Amino acid sequence: MAATVMSERGRKLLRDFPALGALHEHDRKGIEGLIGLVERAAEYNRDVALPRALELDERMEREPDYFDWEMMREACKYRFFSLAIPEVLGGLANKYMVTGMALVVEELCSACGGIGLAIAAHSLGVAPLIASGAMAHWETVLHEIVEEEKKGNPVLMAYAITEPSAGTDVEEPEFLAVARIGLEAKRVKGGYRVNGRKCFISGGSEAKYITMTAATDRSRPLETWTTFLVERGMEGFSTPRVELKMGQRACHAAELLFEDVFIPHSHVLGYEGDGIANGILIIMAASRGPVGAIATGIARGAFEHFLAWAREPANGKKPIDEDRIRMALADMYAVLEENRGLYLGHSLGGDALFRNAFTHPLFLSAFMIPRRIRASKPYASLLNSYYGKGLVNILFRYFIKDEDATDMLAKASLAKFACADNAMALVSRALELMGTTPSPQRRWVEKAYRDVKLTQIYEGTNQLNRLALYNTEIAGTLKVEIPGPFKKGVR
Ligand SMILES: Cc1cc2nc3c(=O)[nH]c(=O)nc-3n(C[C@H](O)[C@H](O)[C@H](O)COP(=O)(O)OP(=O)(O)OC[C@H]3O[C@@H](n4cnc5c(N)ncnc54)[C@H](O)[C@@H]3O)c2cc1C
Repeated sequence: MAATVMSERGRKLLRDFPALGALHEHDRKGIEGLIGLVERAAEYNRDVALPRALELDERMEREPDYFDWEMMREACKYRFFSLAIPEVLGGLANKYMVTGMALVVEELCSACGGIGLAIAAHSLGVAPLIASGAMAHWETVLHEIVEEEKKGNPVLMAYAITEPSAGTDVEEPEFLAVARIGLEAKRVKGGYRVNGRKCFISGGSEAKYITMTAATDRSRPLETWTTFLVERGMEGFSTPRVELKMGQRACHAAELLFEDVFIPHSHVLGYEGDGIANGILIIMAASRGPVGAIATGIARGAFEHFLAWAREPANGKKPIDEDRIRMALADMYAVLEENRGLYLGHSLGGDALFRNAFTHPLFLSAFMIPRRIRASKPYASLLNSYYGKGLVNILFRYFIKDEDATDMLAKASLAKFACADNAMALVSRALELMGTTPSPQRRWVEKAYRDVKLTQIYEGTNQLNRLALYNTEIAGTLKVEIPGPFKKGVR
């Protein structure tokens, strides 16, 4: 797209995000690609999310089991389920993958936090497949997602780490070492037998594929924490319940039940015991920043409804004529600016890191092999073998350095807790100032208040994220270690 045909919204975006404006000088095509993504999200909001958000929220309070598949089918047209899938596989993820994700979720969540999460949770599920370099599954699972999306059929993924007895504990190595883990994936011939439960899994009840972390020995969770690919339809696997949620209701939080589920060796992503790095820290290093963007989007939506309320006459006068309301609006605007700086600081850094790997000619050359060979069983077996995984591992270690990944985790945790707390305070202030008189805008802000709370909880509570920032940046005791290749005793 040439700069001369950039839309009004595109020009506004460059003004709203000065960092993008500056980058635009050097990389018009890349930045205008990002603007295109935000425009798609805005169109989806106008046509799909906004017309149904309030009604859906109310319906899901009465019927928490209900799921609006239509909004997901509509999302296919906008290709939102390919946001984290590399371009070489037919997806949309390019050198601005993290930033693209963050900008899209801000936009979607400005209309509805729940619908935004339903879409974003899928990419969180995809992320471990990508980050673990599990290329054997790229040609099957990721290919299926892309191809079905083009036909309007959402094939969804989810990411499951939380267990009933361990939430915060599974997101930090120090806590995981002493966590009381309930679910176990015991080694058996040809794979693993899994028994136990995962809980609060966003999109878990709709996902066809789930990336899941589990201990292969519950008495040594830190050493044996492993990432698996679970497929709906595996015998003994079910999703028996969804929660009645306070906010972000349009996305289910599901319980996953494993009753003697057999998971074959081929479905271990990376090596057994690598879960803490490729299963959690690397994923959180990429995804916590976009959670800051989710919070910012919800807060922005509340700000816009608050502004509309303030401009409307009530009892012969407009709230906006009062200085206290104008000052509140200025404070809210400042918060949105600060938040955008925080999450963009993380996402642009994340892109710089991942770009090393995913746009490198060495990586791209792997896709010059014809797809019929890449999708063949012998090729998948090769990639899934001890040596195949080792090779991919070496490349990952070459492109993504531990210290850069640790820095990314620090920035992600900072963006997550600061944006979420700022957003919570913004929405809370808006609701207080609007008083108790019912109005259409107040309904939206009340929903935003319930929606935004969750951003302080998932992807690690804000307390945990504060500790993560302290441990990485201040104390220097937490380091992300990209798993090493060719581990002794691991096959
Ligand atoms: C709606 C929803 C959707 C979710 N989606 C997903 C998902 O898709 N996938 C997934 O795997 N998980 C998901 N989660 C789980 C979420 O990440 C956890 O709820 C979160 O990690 C907290 O774990 P917990 O609920 O067990 O709380 P706990 O770990 O029991 O924490 C309770 C409180 O104690 C504090 N605390 C705990 N330990 C410490 C400590 N050492 N120091 C200081 N404070 C501490 C916590 O900050 C928190 O305030 C979701 C949760 C919700 C509510």
